Amino acid sequence: MTEAVLVLNAGSSSIKFALYSLAEIAGMPHVRGKIESIRRAPVFKAVDRNGQELDKGSLGSIDVSSDHHELTAHLLDWVEQHDDGHEVVAIGHRVVHGGRDFSAPVQINREVLEKLKGFNSLAPLHQPNNLAPIEALFARDANVIQVACFDTSFHRTQTHLAELFALPRRFMEEGVIRYGFHGLSYEYISGALTKHLGDDAGGRIIVAHLGNGASLCAIENRKSVATSMGFTALDGLVMGSRCGTLDPGVVLYLMQERGMNADQIQHLLYNESGLLGVSGISNNMQVLLESDRAEAKEAVDLFCYRAASEIASLIVPLQGLDAIVFTAGIGENSPAIRAEICRNLNWLDIALDDRANAANKTIISTDSSAITVSVIPTDEESVIAKATRKLFLAGN
Ligand code: ADP
Repeated sequence: MTEAVLVLNAGSSSIKFALYSLAEIAGMPHVRGKIESIRRAPVFKAVDRNGQELDKGSLGSIDVSSDHHELTAHLLDWVEQHDDGHEVVAIGHRVVHGGRDFSAPVQINREVLEKLKGFNSLAPLHQPNNLAPIEALFARDANVIQVACFDTSFHRTQTHLAELFALPRRFMEEGVIRYGFHGLSYEYISGALTKHLGDDAGGRIIVAHLGNGASLCAIENRKSVATSMGFTALDGLVMGSRCGTLDPGVVLYLMQERGMNADQIQHLLYNESGLLGVSGISNNMQVLLESDRAEAKEAVDLFCYRAASEIASLIVPLQGLDAIVFTAGIGENSPAIRAEICRNLNWLDIALDDRANAANKTIISTDSSAITVSVIPTDEESVIAKATRKLFLAGN
């Protein structure tokens, strides 16, 4: 048997997985896949390392009522049947919130799990889903080695000022600070900078992770110095269905004048806002770019305007800018969005190479551009696999 690490990334409506052989952790996973549209119309997809589809649509008795516990058990059964001589020796999980306590990956035991549950209220839409597979796996095998890798950890190098909100100190002391998210993606990009940017890699870089969730990270010497998401993953950029930065007075208005309660406001800000809310059409950038409706264009323009404005504000903690890196679904695949964000930043003497941009090349700025602009595909799963292997080997 070949020893292997299984990576699980459990979100609200999907569970992604990837199986890496321990000896080839830096390479392609042996198999990867996901269960999508959980609780709506769940579908299972898996591909081997050559991109060949495996068993499309089949996952035992998967049905609409299956919760994350049941789906994790189904997934494990499937992996055991299709492991092709691989034995899972450790499982790595993406966990959104590590609070102030966890600034690095950690092996999970009951005590750690209880601490992580304590952060549920800080990320109500993500953390409980991240933790459900961990409990399901402990129920299956109490001795299984499980590792948690956090989206907040990478930002614990932020400056003190970047973490502070201008609230009375007692709130900071109880943990109301800017935690930041998408840290596993930023860690991957930070590790890939030397390969892609050469001499610029140690410089002042803003990474734009533009997916359904979207954020920016200001990186210097490969470490986070500031980020656009805050106490929760609601802050910062316009996202698929999240509003991003909002005048807190709007929340007071919704409560006092519109009589909305906390659950209603939470649903409005997380699920009905952003691209979806402004366009009234879709949370999906591709759909909006293909639409000829004025509302779709306005939502896209706002997304780009806000992304450029927030990029500009992160130049303050960096005190300058050497490179911008685009990543995640929109950042990696949309020349139009990259061009529009850069057009808003023209005053920085950015010059895009239109052909390179259209082809999603690694470097999409011209040689004469004052700022290097780059596209680097992210790979959060490989970051989790490496950290899990490290902790597994340390304990054996
Ligand atoms: P998640 O945050 O769920 O991981 P992704 O990183 O997969 O999200 O990004 C999803 C977003 O990427 C969607 O809005 C989708 O429309 C967008 N996207 C993917 N491909 C393209 C493309 N070719 N052009 C524009 N947008 C794209």
